[in-house]
Amino acid sequence: MSLKDKLQELKLVLNEAASIDFPGDPDFSPNTIRWSEHAAPRPGAVVNVATESDVQKTVQWAVKNNVKFVAQTGGHGWTITWNIGESDVIINLRRMNDISVNAKEGYAVIEGGALVHEVVEAAYREKVHVVVGNCNSVGACGAMLGGGFSRLQANYSMSIDNIISLRLVTAKGDIITVSQTENPELLWCLKGAGHNFGIVASAKVNAFPEINEGMHWESTMVFLPDHIEEITQTINDLDMGEGMSIHYAFTGLPPFGFPAVVLELWYAGTPAAAQKAFAPLFGLRPIHQESSPIPYNKINAALDRGQCKGGFKPTWSVALEKLDPKAARDLWKHFLHFRLRHPSSKNSVVMFECYAFGKVRQVPEKSASFPWRNLNFHICASLFYTDSAIDKDANAWGDKFRQILQEASGMRKNKVYVNYATGDESLEEIYGYDEDQLKRLRAQKAAWDPDGRFSHYHPIL
Ligand SMILES: Cc1cc2nc3c(=O)[nH]c(=O)nc-3n(C[C@H](O)[C@H](O)[C@H](O)COP(=O)(O)OP(=O)(O)OC[C@H]3O[C@@H](n4cnc5c(N)ncnc54)[C@H](O)[C@@H]3O)c2cc1C
Repeated sequence: MSLKDKLQELKLVLNEAASIDFPGDPDFSPNTIRWSEHAAPRPGAVVNVATESDVQKTVQWAVKNNVKFVAQTGGHGWTITWNIGESDVIINLRRMNDISVNAKEGYAVIEGGALVHEVVEAAYREKVHVVVGNCNSVGACGAMLGGGFSRLQANYSMSIDNIISLRLVTAKGDIITVSQTENPELLWCLKGAGHNFGIVASAKVNAFPEINEGMHWESTMVFLPDHIEEITQTINDLDMGEGMSIHYAFTGLPPFGFPAVVLELWYAGTPAAAQKAFAPLFGLRPIHQESSPIPYNKINAALDRGQCKGGFKPTWSVALEKLDPKAARDLWKHFLHFRLRHPSSKNSVVMFECYAFGKVRQVPEKSASFPWRNLNFHICASLFYTDSAIDKDANAWGDKFRQILQEASGMRKNKVYVNYATGDESLEEIYGYDEDQLKRLRAQKAAWDPDGRFSHYHPIL
């Protein structure tokens, strides 16, 4: 029986707000297009579910018919471990994007298909902060399941540390609640390796009273490359306290993509407190600088440019304790080399994500499977291009990018945040070197997903 025929049976039981698209249908591409088409899934259909029960019925249908599937929210996952082809389906969660906030009792309930900007807007309206990723079009739960880096982690730790409970559709097609009291060992797995265990239909998470009446602060600084060593060392030495976040990037300035060194600073609080917190960086003589207060619901806008969907954007990442000024210089040269060889790749970026990990380290290490609380910097490189003939060059470039950072790090073992992994790393690099860590994850994987239905995103084997 063809996939289309098999799906007729499912269609009959889905909510009327759900739909199914096939290649060639007008809504197929809009519902399947991803941030990066590099090594992307190429499904035979997309099931646009509308309710928790739809998710459950779709998983039950897929298991019964032995059809492979993967859930999708923001479509920003860039791993090369997808294994989805024309006999398989994507379960698109985007119609499940309801968010309810209870400011008085300090929690929000986020449906599994909500994007970061939808959560930010809902929280802003109710004058609370909810810890979600920093990029508007990323799936709030997609990011959370790996850890969930956020500017707000400087005050409240990562997304996973703010989970109260989750509604999860399992590989058996059951709907269960996961919390400290119900299925606590599974909760531990979901906090860092969550893409392996089911589909989150909704998440109940902490909501905090907003800081400084929702007015935060941001600053953009542009530097000549002469300052790379100085900037890198200053960031290394900076005490990243509450409220503080930095993106330090090698990127192309619009409109021509002229290669430049850019710092984006963010602060949850007043301009005066921000000036004090980032004082060492203000002494570094940028060629351009602008700073201003900004309402919290607009703070992600600075990153919107990097979020357009489509095209190839292979990405690599390394997690580090500290930055090395010489390695940063070598990366700049490496970046320029690629840009010169491939001028059309003008939106490519090397990003040093420098978030505050003080609050993250206050949360007990053993409370979650997320393994890298002791690391401070997550460096990602994404090459943007549209001609797949560049793939080979790009892959060699990415290997060298990681090698430069790993050799300079002085750390004996390579490490990467699961949400930033390429997919060719070892399981230890992604999920941790502690033997007990992988043993616990594997035991829960065997218990909850023995047939490996949820094994498309850095699968635990
Ligand atoms: C431009 C950009 C900005 C980013 N910014 C951040 C950031 O600020 N902080 C951060 O931590 N990470 C960030 N990331 C990384 C991001 O967390 C991961 O790429 C994440 O997997 C994306 O989730 P998604 O829903 O957008 O992607 P998708 O590709 O739709 O999903 C990725 C994986 O998550 C699974 N998934 C999605 N929703 C659910 C759900 N409800 N239940 C179960 N599984 C689900 C999917 O099945 C898939 O395996 C960013 C990535 C990009 C490309």
